[in-house]
Amino acid sequence: MRIIVLLGPPGAGKGTQAAGLAGDLGLAHVATGDLFRAHVAAGTDLGRLAKGFMERGQLVPDDVTLGMLLARLAEPDAAAGVVLDGFPRTRAQAEALDRALAERGERVEVALLIDVPEDVLVARLADRWICEAAGHVYSRTARPPKVDGRCDVDGSPLVQRADDRPETVRARLAQQMAPLAEVVAHYERQGILRRIDGQESIAAVGAALRAALSGVGAPTAEGAPTAEGVSTGSAPSTGGPSVTGGAPRTGPRQA
Ligand SMILES: [Zn+2]
Repeated sequence: MRIIVLLGPPGAGKGTQAAGLAGDLGLAHVATGDLFRAHVAAGTDLGRLAKGFMERGQLVPDDVTLGMLLARLAEPDAAAGVVLDGFPRTRAQAEALDRALAERGERVEVALLIDVPEDVLVARLADRWICEAAGHVYSRTARPPKVDGRCDVDGSPLVQRADDRPETVRARLAQQMAPLAEVVAHYERQGILRRIDGQESIAAVGAALRAALSGVGAPTAEGAPTAEGVSTGSAPSTGGPSVTGGAPRTGPRQA
C-alpha cells in the first residue's frame, strides 16, 4: 500500500491539499483529528482511552494515536493506501510509525513538505481583523475593507484580537515549528523528503505536490522483486502505458 505523509506548518493549507491529493490518487485521507473524533463518537476502546486523556487536559499518548492509525489502515477504503495529515507530529511518532509499518512489511513511501517561510505564515495567520462595533471579519488579503481600517457595514474601526496579533501568532508558531523540523529531518535522513514551495496558489501547490510524487511511486523502487531468471541485464522496463497504479493524472482539475 502507498503511505504518503503530508507535512506542513499551520496555515500552509495542508488539510486542503491532503484531501485533494488523496482523492486524485484513490487513497484515503487520514487526518488525526478526524480519527480521534470518530473513535470517541463510536465509543471504541481507543476512543475511550483518548477521551480520558483529553478530558484531563493531557496529550493523547503516541501509542493510542498510532493504534487508531493502524486500525484505519485496515479499513477497505485504505486498501490502496493513505495520505497522512497531522501524523507524525514528532520525531518519536515518526519512529514509532516506521516500526509499526515495518512489522507489516510496509514503509512510508514519501514525505511531502509544504514549505512556507515563517514570516509569510505569520502574515497569513495574523491577517484577521474584526470591527469594534459588531465583530464583522476582514482580511487584508482575502477580504479587505473598502476603506482601510474601517468596517464596510458600520464604519467602526477594525482591530485585532490578542490571539491574532503577529507577536502572539509568532510565539504559537515557534512552538509548533521545532517538532516539525525534527520530523522533516527524520524523513530527510531517509532520503524520502520532498519540499514543495507553499507560497503559490492552492492549485499551483497541488500541481507541485503531484509532480513531486510522480516518479517516487513507481513500482521500480528498491523494494522491487528481483526474480531470478528474468534479469537479462539491461532494459529496465520503460514505464510505458502498462502502469496500472500510480500514473499521475495531468488533467485540469479544480481543488
Ligand atoms: Zn462592522
